[in-house]
Amino acid sequence: MKRLLSATPVAANRFACRFVRSRPCSTGKWGREMLGYQNNLLRINLSTGIVQAEPLRMDWAKKYIGSKGLAIKYLYEELNPGIDPLSEDNKLIFMTTPLTGTSIPCSGKLSIAAKSPATGTICDCSIGGHAALKIKYAGYDAMILEGKYEKPCYIFIEDTHVEIMDAGQYWGLGAHVTEAMLSELYGHEYSYLTIGPAGETKCGMACINSDYYRQAGRGGMGAVMGSKNVKAVVIKGTGSVKIPNIREACRRIIEIEKENVLQEDNTYVFDTGTTAFLEACQDGGILPKKNFSDTTDDRWTEYNGDVLLKGLEGKRGCGSCGLGCGNFLKLGDVICEGPEYESIAVAGPNVCNADAIKILKSNKVADDMGLDTISAGDTIAWAMEMTEKGIHDFGIHFGEIDKYIEYLELMARAEGIGAELAQGVKRLSEKYGGQDFAMHVKGLEYPQYEPRGSWGMALAYAVSDRGACHMRAYAANEEIFTATAPPYTSEGKGEIVYRMGWWSAVKFSFGICDFWGTITLDLMAEILELVTGEQWTTKELEEIGVRVLNMARAFNQREGFNGKDDTAPKRIFREVLRSGAGAGQKIPEAAFEDMKQQYYKYMGWNEKGIVPEAILEAL
Ligand code: SF4
Repeated sequence: MKRLLSATPVAANRFACRFVRSRPCSTGKWGREMLGYQNNLLRINLSTGIVQAEPLRMDWAKKYIGSKGLAIKYLYEELNPGIDPLSEDNKLIFMTTPLTGTSIPCSGKLSIAAKSPATGTICDCSIGGHAALKIKYAGYDAMILEGKYEKPCYIFIEDTHVEIMDAGQYWGLGAHVTEAMLSELYGHEYSYLTIGPAGETKCGMACINSDYYRQAGRGGMGAVMGSKNVKAVVIKGTGSVKIPNIREACRRIIEIEKENVLQEDNTYVFDTGTTAFLEACQDGGILPKKNFSDTTDDRWTEYNGDVLLKGLEGKRGCGSCGLGCGNFLKLGDVICEGPEYESIAVAGPNVCNADAIKILKSNKVADDMGLDTISAGDTIAWAMEMTEKGIHDFGIHFGEIDKYIEYLELMARAEGIGAELAQGVKRLSEKYGGQDFAMHVKGLEYPQYEPRGSWGMALAYAVSDRGACHMRAYAANEEIFTATAPPYTSEGKGEIVYRMGWWSAVKFSFGICDFWGTITLDLMAEILELVTGEQWTTKELEEIGVRVLNMARAFNQREGFNGKDDTAPKRIFREVLRSGAGAGQKIPEAAFEDMKQQYYKYMGWNEKGIVPEAILEAL
C-alpha cells in the first residue's frame, strides 16, 4: 500500500472509490451458483464513476461456459445495434472461465471482447500472461468497462478496492515502457494490461498487451480501451477459486499433465515456439510472399527457427501453463519475446525481407506501439504493391524493411503517412484502388496462410466471426500439416470448417490455450466436472460450441452482415500461384461459393448465410 500512495488518484471525490463488494445472490432469476466460478462480475462505468459488483449471469454461463462464449453473449444482450465501436456506448469485456486460476494445464487465457472498430463485427481475443488469474483471484469472473473517462487514466484493482488513477504521465508512451513504469510502482505481484500509442490514436489495429509480449491482438481491442481513455488496468487478487474436491482434482490434473499435455504433439511449442510452422508452411506451399502474390521463399532458411533460436536467452509461459512456448531472443542488439510464425511471415517473405534481426525488431516495435503485427504488416505489404504498381505512391517498396519498421511507429502514432496506413487495407483500397489485392475479410487483414494452397482456409477466413482469422477453423492443419484432407478442392470443406469451428469455440470458451492440441472433448467434459462439480456430456459441449458460433453470427447479423460479406479477395480467384506445392492453383469462385453453401447447411443457416429465427430464439 505504501507504493500505492505515490500514485495520484484522479478526481478523488468522484473516482477514488473504495467499495464494498455486493454479495452475489446465491439463487434466483439468474441461475444458481456453480463452483469454479466466482459467480461475480465487476462493472466499471467510467462516465458515471459507478463501480459495482453484481452476480454473474449463471443461466448464461451454463449455456456459454466463459471466455469467448460468455463474453459474446453479454455483448449481444448489452450493446445496442449500430453503436459506434469507438464511442462510450461500446463495452470492453474481460472474461475468464471456471478453469481460470486452477492448475488445469494451459487454462490461463483471458478473453477480451467488444464490438470491433476494425470490422464492425463482434470481436473476441484470447490473451495469455497472468491477468486472467489475477482477475479471478480478485474475486471476479469478468470485468466490464463501460462509458469513457474524461482524461487518460488507469484502473487499479486489488480485490474489492478499485481506483481510477491519473495516467497523464503514461499517455504517449509505449506499452512496454508503461508496463515497466507501473510495475516499478506496484511490483511484480500485479498484472498489467496496457495499450500503446496505437490504442490512444484509436487505430483499428491496436492491441492490448500484458506481460509485455502477450497480446489481445486482432480487431482493435486496444482502440476500444483507448477510446475510453484507459491506458492500463493494474490488477492483483488475494483470493482463491473453490472447486469441489481439490485432492482428487490435483491427482487427476497431474495424470492429465503427464499422459496428455507433455506429449511431443504439444511440447514442440516449448522447443521451438511457432517458428516450427515456418518450415511446414514453406513445404506445404502456403507461406505467403510479396503481399500474397505467390508462396514460398528461397531465402526462408535465413530467418527460420534454427536462425532465430540461436539467440535464445530465456523461456516464459502464461499462468497455469504446462508448455511454456515463450522464447526470449537476443539477436544483435534486439531483445524480444517471440516472434510468432505470423509475425515472422508478415515481416519476412510477405514484404520480401530475409533479415532475421529486422524481423525481431519489427515484432518488438509493433508490440511496444500496441499494434497487431498481422494487420499492420499486411497493410504495409499492400502499400508496397500499390507503390510498385504505380497506383498510389505510399513511399515504400518491397524489401525496404527499415522503412517498414519506421512506418509501424508512424501508424501507431497516426503521424504522416502512418495516419493514412493506420486505416487498414479495406478502407485504403476503397479510397485508392487495389481492392483485388487488398487481403482482408470484413476489414480484418489476412493471417499468414495462403488459401490457394489450402482452400479450406479461404472458407475459414470468410465465415470467421471477426473477419479473416486463422484461430477459428484451422483448416491448414488437415489440408497441409497432417495431410488428412486434400487441399485443392471444395469437397468436404464445409464439414471441416464447421467441425473445427465449433471445436475452437468450445476450447476458447474454456480459456484453454490452442497449443494444447491433444485435448479431447471427453477430457474437456471431465475437466469441467472437476472444477464445477457438475456433469457435462460431450454432446452438450458440442452444442455449446455451435451455440457460440450462432451467437456471434447473430450479433453480426444484427449489425447488417450476411453471406455477401463472407468473401475472399479477388486475387484468390483470379491469379494462380506460381511457386511451391500449390503451383498452378487458384480457387474458382464457384468452388468458393460451394464451400460457403456447405458450411451454411451444417450451421442450419439459409443460402444467404442468415441464421433462422428458430435458432436465434434458442440462443
Ligand atoms: S503454450 Fe504458450 S501461449 Fe499457450 S498457455 Fe502456454 S505459454 Fe501461453
